[in-house]
Amino acid sequence: MASPVVIALDGPAASGKGTLAQAIASHYGFAYLDTGSLYRGVAYLLLREGEDPWDEAAAAARRFSLEEIAGADIRTREIGAAASVVAAQPAVRKALLDFQRNFARNPPGGAKGAVLDGRDIGTVVCPDATVKFFVIASPEVRALRRFLELRDEKPGLKEADVLADLMERDARDAGRSDAPMTKAPDAELLDTTHMTIEAAFAAARRVIDGVLQRCEG
Ligand code: C5P
Repeated sequence: MASPVVIALDGPAASGKGTLAQAIASHYGFAYLDTGSLYRGVAYLLLREGEDPWDEAAAAARRFSLEEIAGADIRTREIGAAASVVAAQPAVRKALLDFQRNFARNPPGGAKGAVLDGRDIGTVVCPDATVKFFVIASPEVRALRRFLELRDEKPGLKEADVLADLMERDARDAGRSDAPMTKAPDAELLDTTHMTIEAAFAAARRVIDGVLQRCEG
């Protein structure tokens, strides 16, 4: 049996990679894994149990399961910040690695491919991915996007605070020693600063279709 197609999307917070990954997965009929939700899930469990994200994270990662966080609101600023603390710990990353690789090797539901988005998919989790993207956007545009997502739930929220959060998180994600966020040398750089989601998707599709045609030919 042919090995599944793997599409890797990495990049900083709110760069548009999640929306793009979902659009790609739905277009090609591939399975989708938001790997950030795993780190957020670990952070959520720690915060729920009153633990310090700097401490018991490894233990939480080991007992982590997607079922345990089903329905939980893990997209808050607090959980995003705690997730990046948790994600800097090598034991946590190690504990979550097999799950991600298994997903890519055996996409659920018999799908012929998998789309994973995160920070280290093209570099560490799936270095042999069929197609890799590194998705970026200016910090101001990313902050605005995240602000618009969060403001209904947080009426007093300021765009400047969202920007500060993103910058702090990006610095931690890019500066950690284990699996830092970085562009794989063979990843396609996609700057979505001035792009609609439709334009970003069209650009990604051109790259993917080109690679898939070469693979089939
Ligand atoms: O993608 P999202 O913003 O939900 O990710 C939350 C945090 O999880 C990131 O800031 C990062 O610290 C961590 N993460 C990671 N590696 C991944 C995905 C997410 O370190 N592959």
